[in-house]
Amino acid sequence: MLTIHGAGVGKGIAIGKAFVLQRDRLDIPEYVVPPALIDREVERFENAVAKAKEQLVAIRKQIPKSAPPETSGFIDVHLLMLEDKMLVEAPVHAIRKQSTNAERALLQQANALNEVFDQMTDPYLRSKKADIDQVVDRVQRNLMSLDEQEHDRLPEEAKDRIIVANDLTPADTVVLKNHRVRAFVTNLGGPISHTAILARGLKIPAIVGLHGATSYLRNGEDVIVDGKRGVVIIAPDPDLVRYYSRRKRSIEKRRQDLKALQSSPSVTLDGKDVVLMANIELPGDVRSVHAAHAAGVGLYRTEYLYMNRSDPPSETEQFTAYVKVIKALKGIPVTIRTLDLGADKQVDGRVDPGGTNPALGLRAVRLCLKEPALFRPQLRAILRASAFGPVQIMIPMVSSLDEVDQVRDIIEETKAELNQEGQPFDANLPVGGMVEVPAAAISADLFARRLDFLSIGTNDLIQYTLAIDRVDDSVNYLYDPIHPSVLRLIYITIRAAEHAGIPLTMCGEMAGDLKFTRLLLGMGMRTLSMDPAVLLEVKKVVRECSVKRLKKFADKVLRAGSTEETHSLVRQINQLDFSTTRL
Ligand code: PEP
Ligand code: MG
Repeated sequence: MLTIHGAGVGKGIAIGKAFVLQRDRLDIPEYVVPPALIDREVERFENAVAKAKEQLVAIRKQIPKSAPPETSGFIDVHLLMLEDKMLVEAPVHAIRKQSTNAERALLQQANALNEVFDQMTDPYLRSKKADIDQVVDRVQRNLMSLDEQEHDRLPEEAKDRIIVANDLTPADTVVLKNHRVRAFVTNLGGPISHTAILARGLKIPAIVGLHGATSYLRNGEDVIVDGKRGVVIIAPDPDLVRYYSRRKRSIEKRRQDLKALQSSPSVTLDGKDVVLMANIELPGDVRSVHAAHAAGVGLYRTEYLYMNRSDPPSETEQFTAYVKVIKALKGIPVTIRTLDLGADKQVDGRVDPGGTNPALGLRAVRLCLKEPALFRPQLRAILRASAFGPVQIMIPMVSSLDEVDQVRDIIEETKAELNQEGQPFDANLPVGGMVEVPAAAISADLFARRLDFLSIGTNDLIQYTLAIDRVDDSVNYLYDPIHPSVLRLIYITIRAAEHAGIPLTMCGEMAGDLKFTRLLLGMGMRTLSMDPAVLLEVKKVVRECSVKRLKKFADKVLRAGSTEETHSLVRQINQLDFSTTRL
């Protein structure tokens, strides 16, 4: 028996036999091309690129309905890379200038790009290196006329097995579902790699970053994958198999119980309604919103529309995307957040990294106000889309009232423009702001007077309150949603919204963290917006507690004098037994 550890990215337990997916490393040929054949070599390269595009388009068509919505997004990223000059023009240049063969020219360029990615400090951008490798690999295989079928399909024997691979491409994940694969583990990838994101969407146990998995595991070997703990057990003892089988059954039962909650109301034992909404990023995410029976979309992050391209999307493109989401939501309200670029959300085509400290620099609403050419088309698109269903606009990272006034002025100007053009829109569309900078929380009463609703973005609020860079691993241990200072700011905001009589939502990660649901209800939060994947679990917590009792504990937490005390009290809140509570 051997146990290896990695990053668990798809929860759940799988017990079965391993299928080791071996994809041989390519042996890239290198030779000099005679001058008379240079044009033919360029043509050979261009054909290989064109073929790669055709293959990806064909794969996109095969995406099963049950595949995670991100799947087509990742395939689109690969298609976009095949349009990128750095990848497709530089090798042509090298073929002509150095009389080198296409495979070598592409390899040289891929190595150069990889070096650039290696130097990046942002882990998200660094993780994009894997996409380049996969796109390059596809073109190389085409150049070398290798069997594409073998590359794009999982073999029959992989059915019903636990896949062990070096890495998986987005194309692989399209077929994972169809093969009823039980789980997958990969040598490469971190918690924010595309493989990890897709695993979460596929809802199968998965572990990435298990360096050496393909060397430790043999085809047909018995394995247990514990996706929650990030543990793979090779050749387990029978006792362990029995233990994991029991845990697996209880997880499955819990899943079924949660499904039964889909149509149950989200109300506490003492009759308090709690509105549970979903956070989305891609139009395809709407499916999970419906699956979770969310009451609305409390946060639609629009940055994805600006990613993996050099120019910002046009007004029409944005309008089309928003209308698609609104129509798919079928009357469920959506809060569209205006562009929150900068700091952890970087896009191609912008050279300004946001100063020496991007998180404190020109980001989110600051950037939008500085660059009206970026902001106005988005506001026009959102307003125009509001003619198709219930929409609210949400401004990220407001830190001064002046910013709110400026945005409101631009919105009014945009409305006048649209009126003049005879374009329909919702004239009463609510405009709200995110409370994610301590300044906005401390003065929430002032912001509440100028805005139609507030939404607490705990991810940034914690970062700015505790002065912890949210993407810096070295200070991660200090990131604490129940630090007394953070809780006080949340509470100030709750009171301000209540006093002003405006709706308040929480849409940061804390809103979907089961550890904090009872505390937040006790503090007075009544609307939470979260990853739709956890919504039913939060609903279960809501339905099994009573706010009256929680309030007493929450008051104690708010008076706590230390982080140790808040943590101990929150543990106590979560242990409260409501089984005898009557309605
Ligand atoms: C937040 O900061 O809590 C939030 C919801 O916004 P984002 O994570 O997109 O910055
Ligand atoms: Mg934020």
